[in-house]
Amino acid sequence: MTEVLPQFKIVTPDCVEAAIAALAGAPDARACAGGTDIVVALRKGLSETGTLVDLTGIAALRETATGADGGMVIGAGVTLAAIERMPEIGERYPAIARAAAAVAGPTHREVATLGGNLCLDTRCVYYNQSHWWRKSNDFCLKYRGDTCHVAPQGNRCRAAFSGDMAPALMAHGAEIEIAGPDGTRRLPLAEFYHEDGAAHLALNPGEIVVAAHLPPAGGVSDYAKIRVRGAIDFPLAGVAVATEPGSAGTTFRIAVTGTNSKPLLVDFPDALTGESNADAFFAAMQKAVQKAVSPQRTTTIAPHYRRLSVSALTARVARGLVGLAA
Ligand SMILES: Cc1cc2nc3c(=O)[nH]c(=O)nc-3n(C[C@H](O)[C@H](O)[C@H](O)COP(=O)(O)OP(=O)(O)OC[C@H]3O[C@@H](n4cnc5c(N)ncnc54)[C@H](O)[C@@H]3O)c2cc1C
Ligand code: SF4
Repeated sequence: MTEVLPQFKIVTPDCVEAAIAALAGAPDARACAGGTDIVVALRKGLSETGTLVDLTGIAALRETATGADGGMVIGAGVTLAAIERMPEIGERYPAIARAAAAVAGPTHREVATLGGNLCLDTRCVYYNQSHWWRKSNDFCLKYRGDTCHVAPQGNRCRAAFSGDMAPALMAHGAEIEIAGPDGTRRLPLAEFYHEDGAAHLALNPGEIVVAAHLPPAGGVSDYAKIRVRGAIDFPLAGVAVATEPGSAGTTFRIAVTGTNSKPLLVDFPDALTGESNADAFFAAMQKAVQKAVSPQRTTTIAPHYRRLSVSALTARVARGLVGLAA
């Protein structure tokens, strides 16, 4: 099989309702925003469709606004380049601007969208390959095969969610707005994802992501990732940390990507105060991250290395936020 695009029809709705109707009207229809992930998948034979629903003509998806609570609403069609450059995001939600700037390369970011990034397919070294490569390996459980080469005894796909934007939004307590044939709904972004590499999104047929809603930011935040190629690469693991100053000290919201089939919020409720032993505090934070993540053999880099490095990275980012760089 040569790696050329298969035949499909492109429809170009100009409003959310028309996009939903187009998606709901054809069971194999797929949404396309910037196309930087789905077009690659179609070329590699990782996805099939008879109808691609191009969302780029829907002006409402490209809007940003101040939320009713004083926070911010970012449309799903806003490009990552726009997010990276928007002063309001850089000042109020720096982790989000940093994450956007860390996705792929500059030309990708000019067209890649927030919605496409949040709905990014999971990744695995046995899956993101050419058709002939996967065929010679008898495909795999996620698509066309019956065995998972990462965990052959298991019955679910362990492919890793590797989007950079979700953890940054989660650390800032974002909610996601979804529109579909049954109307619109909102849920915390963390609940949008499942721990299943073959079905990781809580998106029903015909639904699209419309926007992300951010509450007002209370503290400061940052995002960092480890990757094989520093100039352009998916995260082997990435972490966003946002501080929440309070009367009982500073707490930290930590969200990780690249280690599981979904981005994770790490449970670490401890507060840093003037009396805290900082080294012990950040060592405990590091342990909490190590315990939460479960990287698998889905990349060429060893899972243990990813576990240790993302936990060390978390502590480094958190220390930097409170001026306690190690
Ligand atoms: C060389 C290369 C490097 C990359 N590096 C990174 C990286 O470092 N970090 C990273 O996070 N990503 C990376 N990517 C993946 C991709 O470029 C980004 O994730 C990008 O943000 C995807 O957005 P898009 O608008 O192009 O999505 P598309 O390709 O248009 O869509 C992606 C998926 O989302 C769905 N979708 C799109 N919009 C919506 C919507 N509004 N509602 C519901 N579903 C929707 C599509 O159906 C599709 O399944 C890389 C890609 C390439 C080719
Ligand atoms: S984790 Fe297993 S089933 Fe999932 S893509 Fe990788 S090899 Fe396939």
